[in-house]
Amino acid sequence: MDKVATAPARVCRVALDTPLRRTFDYLIAADTPAPVVGGRVAVPFGRRQLVGVVMALADQSDVELAKLKTVSRAIDLEPTFDAPLLRLLQWASDYYHHPVGEVIAAALPKLAREGQTLEAQTEYWLTTAAGVAAQAEQAPRRAPKQRALLEQLARAGDVGLDAESLQERLPGWREAARALLARGWIQSEARNTPRARGDTNQYTATQSAAPAVTDQHPELTVAQREVLASIEGAGESGYRAWLLHGVTGSGKTEVYLQLAERQLQRGRRVLVLVPEIGRTPQLVGRFARRFPNVPLAVMHSGLTDTERLAAWRAARSGHARLVIGTRSAVFAPIPALGLLIVDEEHDSSFKQQEGGFRYSARDLALVRAHMLDVPVVLGSATPSLESLHNAASGRLTRVSLPDRAAAASPPTLRLVDLRQERVHAGLSTTAVSAISQHLAADGQVLVYINRRGYAPTLACTACGWIAPCQSCDARMTVYRQAGRLRCHHCGADRDLPRQCPQCGYAVKTVGQGTERVEESLAEAFPGVGIARLDRDVVRRNDELEAVVARMSAGKARILVGTQMVAKGHDFPSLTLVVVLNADQGLFSTDFRAAERLAQTIVQVAGRAGRASRPGEVLIQTEYPEHPLLTGLLSGGYDAFATAALDERRSAAWPPFSRLAALRTSATHAEAAIDFLEEARRAAEPRARAAGVRLLGPAPAAMAKRADRHHAQLLLESVDRGALHRLLDEWLPVIEALPSARRVRWSLDVDPLELF
Ligand code: ADP
Ligand code: ZN
Ligand code: ZN
Repeated sequence: MDKVATAPARVCRVALDTPLRRTFDYLIAADTPAPVVGGRVAVPFGRRQLVGVVMALADQSDVELAKLKTVSRAIDLEPTFDAPLLRLLQWASDYYHHPVGEVIAAALPKLAREGQTLEAQTEYWLTTAAGVAAQAEQAPRRAPKQRALLEQLARAGDVGLDAESLQERLPGWREAARALLARGWIQSEARNTPRARGDTNQYTATQSAAPAVTDQHPELTVAQREVLASIEGAGESGYRAWLLHGVTGSGKTEVYLQLAERQLQRGRRVLVLVPEIGRTPQLVGRFARRFPNVPLAVMHSGLTDTERLAAWRAARSGHARLVIGTRSAVFAPIPALGLLIVDEEHDSSFKQQEGGFRYSARDLALVRAHMLDVPVVLGSATPSLESLHNAASGRLTRVSLPDRAAAASPPTLRLVDLRQERVHAGLSTTAVSAISQHLAADGQVLVYINRRGYAPTLACTACGWIAPCQSCDARMTVYRQAGRLRCHHCGADRDLPRQCPQCGYAVKTVGQGTERVEESLAEAFPGVGIARLDRDVVRRNDELEAVVARMSAGKARILVGTQMVAKGHDFPSLTLVVVLNADQGLFSTDFRAAERLAQTIVQVAGRAGRASRPGEVLIQTEYPEHPLLTGLLSGGYDAFATAALDERRSAAWPPFSRLAALRTSATHAEAAIDFLEEARRAAEPRARAAGVRLLGPAPAAMAKRADRHHAQLLLESVDRGALHRLLDEWLPVIEALPSARRVRWSLDVDPLELF
């Protein structure tokens, strides 16, 4: 018996990036480095080589051993995913009913999926033989910096010196290195960085285990002290999930910093998840300033593949002690992780809404914290109704920062009745005069509109023609400066016609987007610097920073933008916020539209009066009596949330029930619906027995997108367990349906947006 147990495993179960809901068994050759659980292996799959991750080692397989293929190569000698992380991935695969191989592929950076090493690399420099000879002759004589570098490296011999030590010994050494490299006297190489594991950080001698804290802590407010006392009073470790509800500017970030500091002092690492666009640069800046010698890894969608791999290596080796990242960073391997923070937890970018594996990073952060038995903090000025509900039921512990931290007072909100006003290019007279007053008083102004481009519609003045997208059930957006018509749904892009293609009469734009608002503000306020912030302007975070810098320096005094401006930018002289049109969220078919509208208004309004000057917020609407707006104005977000939760309860929508959406698309509308009809029939008997409601199938609100027809079937139940058991039984059945082959389909568990 003993012999069998200690013999090396003969088989490994590998998760591969295929749509099949299973792992694949491979034999382990005796004479090669052994694969480890959680490590990557290269294996033959059909006629290809694939990189997969070992989920388990075994002695036997359900397949005859003689028929198994053999692992080609063990890529990792240490696990890429440690046991708790592997468990999280398996959990995610089960919960989202998605093949584990694809889940793991989504978690890995592209280059790691392609088999590149994950060992953190350190850049070393050493002399060549020619360099040693040159150094012996005191060369190069006229370049003392180069000579000094060559001397240092010659003395270090074959070991060489790493870039960090060189920086310490010879600041500005890189220029000299380039010159010596060109002469062939020195060379560089990448070596695996020794790994820091567990509680101590042995990475290099230059790093102390205790973080140095440089910038001044502000004197904490009473509320901040109470919040910290609650969270820390619950113990430094052990699972506990907190909902930190703090109005904008209440000092949530300061709370994160102090909590992180405590963990860093214990030798633990901290993961901070942030929304896709927005605060990342500022938050990274705040952490970097507070902990100047704590290595930090940043992971967001703007990184190149190489940068992403480097960030992952830094995290996995334990070198990075702070990891700040967007959605997929929830899967980052981080040894001795002691605290998770999800900033702006209500933000919809935490939910992956495309592709096959549609996970919620916020929800997985809770699961990960639970598995690691460490605390997790969800922070927001406008918590999601899910989180508020979880706080009410005790799954989250709510702590609050009800007031702004600095001297700032809350802004005053006012509705502007668009039916009673003269409106030009979306701006009411009231708004225009408020803008001039605030500019005259040296304030800055933020104008929010949830539409980019010049105008959402191009129409004929005579025959009623409206520029449609050929591939979508949508109108083309006008881009006047660029002279283009573009579709926001499929990316179609064509010339802006001057005449109606149908009757030849003149065309005109209808409505407005950011570009048009910017133009009319420039006319109304000549000489005033105006900046624009939307996805057309900002393709990368550094462009976002450039706009933010123009505002901060006062070069721009009016900022026009979409959703993006709502994200935590802190402009102390910003005193007026104008919400151009609140009405689209009021009458949507999506049950979450009201929640999103309320969050946006509160977030945008939070930009006003961040410092000592009082802020003013104008919300333009044609429905000033709408209860959502009046409620928000009189009772704030809390009152709104209470009312909205009541509504959800009586309609049995989430969080009072659970949803899953089966989404399909096909080149023919019938194929999409036919598949869902069949899927529905396959679910019906089980659904009835399990108390799961089936809603649909129905075409999506925008049925045609990018030449494909979209439809969905909703499954709803108050019993999460019943819903998931049904999904478990049902998915293999619908996968086998012949009609499944004519469509693309995906399952979305806990969908955020219903189309
Ligand atoms: P939030 O993350 O809730 O929006 P921040 O942490 O960014 O809030 O704080 C808002 C502003 O108030 C920042 O300029 C911050 O430096 C300042 N601040 C935070 N805490 C305090 C405090 N205790 N005393 C004074 N200023 C503070
Ligand atoms: Zn026409
Ligand atoms: Zn289109």
